Amino acid sequence: MVALFASATLSQAASVNSYISAHHISHVKVTKQLWGGFPHYKYRHGKGKPEGVVVHETGNPSSTIFNEIAYMKKNYRNAFVHSFVDSKHIINIASTNYLCWGVGYPGNARFVQFEQVEMHSKASFAHEVENAAYYTAYILHEYHLKPNDAVYDGKGTVWSHGAVAKYLGGSDHTDPKGYYKNAGKKYFHQAYTMSQFYKLVLKNYHQLS
Ligand SMILES: [Zn+2]
Repeated sequence: MVALFASATLSQAASVNSYISAHHISHVKVTKQLWGGFPHYKYRHGKGKPEGVVVHETGNPSSTIFNEIAYMKKNYRNAFVHSFVDSKHIINIASTNYLCWGVGYPGNARFVQFEQVEMHSKASFAHEVENAAYYTAYILHEYHLKPNDAVYDGKGTVWSHGAVAKYLGGSDHTDPKGYYKNAGKKYFHQAYTMSQFYKLVLKNYHQLS
């Protein structure tokens, strides 16, 4: 009984990353569905020269990836990102060779940006996080950028929207911190953090290299 209880406690407390490893959860492929309506402006260092990746979360508890994408095409003049991720899809809608409008000035001229849609189960959250970490690694690899966690010091290639806001300005957004924290607590009994996410990015990056 004691051993059973201990292992049940351990598995409940397992981090999202351990769960992904233990269940051999693997990412889906990137689907390119580039839409012609987005504007094409160069990054500050030029076309095809992003300096890192920004991870977002929509903040919408009831949307799907498909209605998020439809909404963004209608409202791109206010804001748009390059790609959307959920548990089953990584959909690239705007060319990552040109900037998007997700974090304001000056971050927009520097980073590839993607949104995560909110998931509502343990397994779907784990699949989404794996897809998000893979996509981050995939972009770093594609643009010959070295992984470097920017969230704690404002320097590097892997950013949250919150870190961009804190170190570079442009908005007062904090995502995806709250979503990671709440979904982690709800499904894994501990907050998921950007520093854990960064470890998952590294794991994916090394598998690509
Ligand atoms: Zn954001």
